[in-house]
Amino acid sequence: MDKNLSNIIYKARKTHSLAKNEIVDLLSTDSINCELFDEADKVREENVGNSVHLRGLIEFSNICKQNCLYCGLRRDNLNIERYRLEPQTIIDFAEKAKSYGYKTVVLQSGEDDYFTVDKLQYIIKNIKALDLAVTLSIGEKSREEYAAFKAAGADRYLLRIETTDKELYRALNPGMSFENRVRCLKDLKDLGYEVGTGCLIGLPNQTNESLAEDILFFKDLDADMIGVGPFIPNADTPLGDESGGTFEKSLKVMAITRLLLPDANIPATTAMETLNKNGRIIALKSGANVVMPNVTEGEYRRLYALYPGKICINDTPAHCRNCITGKVTGIGRTISEGFGFRPKKR
Ligand code: SAH
Ligand code: SF4
Repeated sequence: MDKNLSNIIYKARKTHSLAKNEIVDLLSTDSINCELFDEADKVREENVGNSVHLRGLIEFSNICKQNCLYCGLRRDNLNIERYRLEPQTIIDFAEKAKSYGYKTVVLQSGEDDYFTVDKLQYIIKNIKALDLAVTLSIGEKSREEYAAFKAAGADRYLLRIETTDKELYRALNPGMSFENRVRCLKDLKDLGYEVGTGCLIGLPNQTNESLAEDILFFKDLDADMIGVGPFIPNADTPLGDESGGTFEKSLKVMAITRLLLPDANIPATTAMETLNKNGRIIALKSGANVVMPNVTEGEYRRLYALYPGKICINDTPAHCRNCITGKVTGIGRTISEGFGFRPKKR
């Protein structure tokens, strides 16, 4: 065991802060992985306990005006059958999510302007009337739009920064800007949302230095939720021939994130399970405390194809609920009965 690396992990565990070069050192070798994952697991247990929050994910539209190079929903992808759910269908799916015992629904989509502020307010209000927490993950909007969703009752917002490497961001997200993405995250914080961000692991030309910057960005923003997952190349995109991210590297970035943000909500991501069939359980034992089971029904699951190999595309929401409950209780953890807001620090 490398003494220096062990000291870095010890420092992170005690102070919840690391310098960039220390994070790079941890990312640059696999010799301390077990220790890193064990310590992240302990920090998780000490700060957010043993219960796992389940968030029911509704993928309500795969129509997107953006053109992110990595994503199967990008507007230039003509190989995908597009769909959008009507507001009432989305509300019906939320009602079913509640019947499965979920306390939060996550409404996710491409950037689809069909969903105006009025439509989204209608959807949010009706879901809030079911006594569910509402998380939105619908991309970049103006401050006024974010304020309107908040006024309708939205509680949380997920918007990954994807990468803090500005040059890489510019290359991968044509027509978008890193500065505007940061503006969105700051506006969301300011408006009182619980804010989730995160990054993709294994993007072309991404370095350990830039991943270290990503982790420091989460810390600096004091993100309430952080979702980290491997980039999985999609053949219907310009990055189809890239090699993509690994499960191990994603797990490491996630574990270091737990050490630095001890009380954040950190999901075991679906993309991790796509690369490793026990991915979510391994992640739950390495710092994660949230799972987002899919509650989208029928063929829409398959059509919401961000990346290939997505798990559970032929399963029903009821099956997913049973499956994940079995997995969580199988490792001695419990399913949370609360809304799962970040524990208040003050
Ligand atoms: N349009 C919204 C939400 C939907 S995309 C947004 O972009 O914020 C949700 C997430 O899917 C993105 O944040 C991105 O990190 C992830 N994603 C897209 N393409 C992916 C790929 N090829 N591999 C892994 N994750 C991908
Ligand atoms: Fe659209 Fe989000 Fe995919 Fe970018 S990542 S193309 S914004 S769905």
